[in-house]
Amino acid sequence: ESNSLIVSFGEMLIDFVPTESGVSLAEASGFLKAPAGAPANVAICVSKLGGKSAFVGKLGDDEFGHMLKDILIKNGVRSDGVVFDQGARTALAFITLLPDGDREFMFYRNPSADMLLTESELNLELIRKAKIFHYGSISLITEPCRSAHLRAMEVAKEAGAILSYDPNLRLPLWSSPEEAREQIMSIWEHANVIKVSDNEFEFLTGHKTIDDETAISLMHSGLKLLLITLGCHGCKYYTKHFHGTVEGFKVKPVDTTGAGDAFVGALLCKIVEDESIFEDEERLKKVVKFANACGAITTTKRGAIPALPNEEEVLKLLNG
Ligand code: ADP
Repeated sequence: ESNSLIVSFGEMLIDFVPTESGVSLAEASGFLKAPAGAPANVAICVSKLGGKSAFVGKLGDDEFGHMLKDILIKNGVRSDGVVFDQGARTALAFITLLPDGDREFMFYRNPSADMLLTESELNLELIRKAKIFHYGSISLITEPCRSAHLRAMEVAKEAGAILSYDPNLRLPLWSSPEEAREQIMSIWEHANVIKVSDNEFEFLTGHKTIDDETAISLMHSGLKLLLITLGCHGCKYYTKHFHGTVEGFKVKPVDTTGAGDAFVGALLCKIVEDESIFEDEERLKKVVKFANACGAITTTKRGAIPALPNEEEVLKLLNG
């Protein structure tokens, strides 16, 4: 059996999403309770597309924590890396949908269970099986989860995994923008694949438009692929050998939540099948197009996890 396991590490939580935009949750006529957390979205996306997927993280031993673990299992994600905290509760995010379609977050994290994962709770056997080890930044902000995250990265790397990083900036979670920038750049150098959004590119570099020179300056010797997503405009890609843009798909977005995670999940599914894409531009472009299609479909339905497509849906959009 070939090794094709994709392990995602980090937070999984519940989003409370108001049914109308422009009002806070307290003012809304109702709300949706949606499973969320960027690394968990990626894990479920991989599984829905037919890939082998596992999630590693900590949940509260409460109604929400058990609901989330069940959602992983129902979606075919290995959950033997999930542990429960006996004291702290599962993280929650209270969302306001702004009139321009953007979102504002208020988090219950004081501290939430995900922040309390310790090194000794890591399922190292599972992590060592990863062909790709994917993670974000939120698990790096505070101890003890930060040490657990760094250890898991190290173990995965030693075992030969490709490290995949999506900074997934949620600024209010850091004590300052400077601290966020510093933490993101300090683990940037360890990753082999990185996906950032255009907003994150601007935050990290101070450049409003994405110029190739600045993007290339973010490359380092271990980084095989840097992707900068551009919302409806698709995505820019950079490798050691070539760079370019792949246009996005025209769809009618209703909620862009999870588009970036769907993009990453699709990308990782293809990388695990064929590593030659780092050297073969034509193949890479096909893969990025597939990821763009997966991201685009996710914007056409509400929520993140409920909106993730299966492979058939992605192929349908791809083949027009
Ligand atoms: P993030 O969710 O991380 O901010 P983006 O919004 O850039 O990331 O979306 C990730 C990918 O999803 C894009 O590269 C694109 O392929 C697809 N996508 C996002 N928004 C749209 C949209 N409005 N129309 C079509 N595709 C989209």
